[in-house]
Amino acid sequence: MAYEVTLIPGDGIGPEVIRAAVRVLEATGLEFEWHRFDAVGAAGVEECGSPLPEAVIDSIRSNRVALKGPISTPVGKGFRSVNVTLRRRLDLFANVRVCRTLPSVRSRFDNVDLIIFRENTEGLYSGIENYDARLEIADSIARITRRGSERIIRFALEYARRHGRRRMTLVHKANVLKLSTGMFLEVGRDLAGLYPEITFDDRIIDNMAMQLVLAPEKWDCIVTTNLFGDILSDLAAGLVGGLGVVPGANIGEDIAVFEAVHGSAPDIAGRGLANPTAVIRSGVMMLRWLGESEVADRVERSVEELFQQGEHLTRDVGGTCSTTEFADRVADRVAV
Ligand code: NAD
Repeated sequence: MAYEVTLIPGDGIGPEVIRAAVRVLEATGLEFEWHRFDAVGAAGVEECGSPLPEAVIDSIRSNRVALKGPISTPVGKGFRSVNVTLRRRLDLFANVRVCRTLPSVRSRFDNVDLIIFRENTEGLYSGIENYDARLEIADSIARITRRGSERIIRFALEYARRHGRRRMTLVHKANVLKLSTGMFLEVGRDLAGLYPEITFDDRIIDNMAMQLVLAPEKWDCIVTTNLFGDILSDLAAGLVGGLGVVPGANIGEDIAVFEAVHGSAPDIAGRGLANPTAVIRSGVMMLRWLGESEVADRVERSVEELFQQGEHLTRDVGGTCSTTEFADRVADRVAV
């Protein structure tokens, strides 16, 4: 039986890294039927008059799973972020980003092993914005709900329990944003009591940013609101060698969209310079979500062995391989 998966290559480096990930996933011997949508983002506007055509949403709803490349968002004007809209439309409330040190990747720290759980549908990205032209005042509302807080914090604690993680740090700004992130903190403290095996604590966002840069290896799991999670997860990516290696997943009640943390990287697009590791590892997360844990382990091991060996890596992590050459090496190992 083939897994039916919605495939959104995206733009910029998206098509290159998605091609690489598909190559590796197909080398596992599992069968996939890809439901592919190229016309998304700016291409969607041009071809179908919408950055996120309904057919894409319908396909993900029907398949329950998607693998997605990055999609560029115009800055300041133009259409709203497809990524934010997708997460909200499909209610993909949990964004999970795994930042772990890989061998051979030059970075300032060893032994970083962080999981960041970011609330994905509300907070400052709720989409509640208003501009009063007369007074020239712009508002962006950070809406946080008890229900939204409960489900992301519960999701994070359950995930930590299942994966044998020991500590959960809730990140907030409850000293200033007393009502919104204050409620998030209160919910976290209430729920933490149900997970006695996990040490629960909290930090204010600015302090947390500094702590992560000083000694990231001391931290384990972090759960936080949308904006703070967005920023901290890029920061954490920088601690383990950059955006090219960090995978991610957007997970809802029974739908999941897997994508790397990085964006469309227009500065290197189309030149074979993109590192597909992040999307390949997002594919590993997808395999686990599909229940293919052994196959996922095999792909993960293959990537790690290649990094251990250190000879065939892409340029962003100190090697000379192109996107395709790297993917071929991983695929060869996976297929053995
Ligand atoms: P970016 O992640 O695209 O790039 C930041 C830097 O990291 C660049 O120097 C880039 O070359 C490098 N980089 C990123 N991915 C890499 C990879 N796989 N291999 C090697 N180097 C890599 O961030 P940006 O420049 O701020 O954003 C560009 C566009 O991407 C924007 O339009 C933004 O809206 C969009 N974006 C989309 C998503 C998404 O689809 N989920 C996420 C973030 C940004």
